[in-house]
Amino acid sequence: DKKYIATPIRTKEILQKYHFTFKKSLGQNFLIDVNVLKNIIGHAGIDETTGTIEIGPGIGALTEQLAIHSDKVVAFEIDQRLLPILQDTLADYDNINIIHADILQADVKEVIKHNFPDGQQIHIVANLPYYITTPILMKLLRERLPVGSITVMIQKEVADRMAAKPNTKSYGSLTIAVQYYTEAKVVMNVPKTVFMPQPNVDSSILNLVARKAPPVQVEDEDYFFTIVQACFAQRRKTLRNNLSSHFKGEFDKEKINDILESIEIDGTRRGESLDMQEFSMLANAFYRLQQ
Ligand code: SAM
Repeated sequence: DKKYIATPIRTKEILQKYHFTFKKSLGQNFLIDVNVLKNIIGHAGIDETTGTIEIGPGIGALTEQLAIHSDKVVAFEIDQRLLPILQDTLADYDNINIIHADILQADVKEVIKHNFPDGQQIHIVANLPYYITTPILMKLLRERLPVGSITVMIQKEVADRMAAKPNTKSYGSLTIAVQYYTEAKVVMNVPKTVFMPQPNVDSSILNLVARKAPPVQVEDEDYFFTIVQACFAQRRKTLRNNLSSHFKGEFDKEKINDILESIEIDGTRRGESLDMQEFSMLANAFYRLQQ
């Protein structure tokens, strides 16, 4: 494995050769452990026929493994300084396309159209920049890209929230948002020592598999997500109280109680006890009244 980029020795060599200095503001923590990379790859659902998209290739540690284990890699990198480095470190591979862009601004759908043949299975795999983990994942999910799964290294705490079950501390509006689009699971927890430099937080590999159809029928998605957020606005408060703050001036407490009763949800429960099905019933009931 010595020849791979994802080793302490090669990474140090590359950093020195280019006098590269890490930008903390870009979440630059490079992977230096091939076994962790193999674990990511192993859960990403890829083989030599699939296309892969990477966000933030860095000096190419994961990109190299994706090039070996998939048909083609398209990677988005925001840091201009890394482009000549990547050209050097990945020179041996002819199935990589590096795009200099901010993933949050990029038209990923268009990039997919231009880079992968119609109907090819595509998977997203990344060691994400932690300062924008949630915005990146929410962008990718909401755009309903034609991808089969997303497998990413992220902060452990955020991974736990995305894969949480009801009645746990991690369960919240982010859980519902992610699990509406995907089946989420934490694949493994990863120690700080596999990164250079080491981040301040613990990390996990999160695997999101796209759902073929939404798990619940909602009348209006934006409205649904707004209601879910309202139910978690103050975690210690009951459903009834969070909803009456949200609908202030629109529905009084009594009306809210009536609506909750009509769908047989106890208003003294807390948001964290509702599952996705119950949230959808709740959102649909209020939505219908407001039409
Ligand atoms: N994939 C490499 C690895 O595992 O060693 C690097 C991962 S590092 C955690 C995150 C990478 O994302 C960095 O290369 C950083 O420059 C890049 N990045 C940060 N913000 C970005 C953005 N908005 N769009 C694209 N890439 C970004």
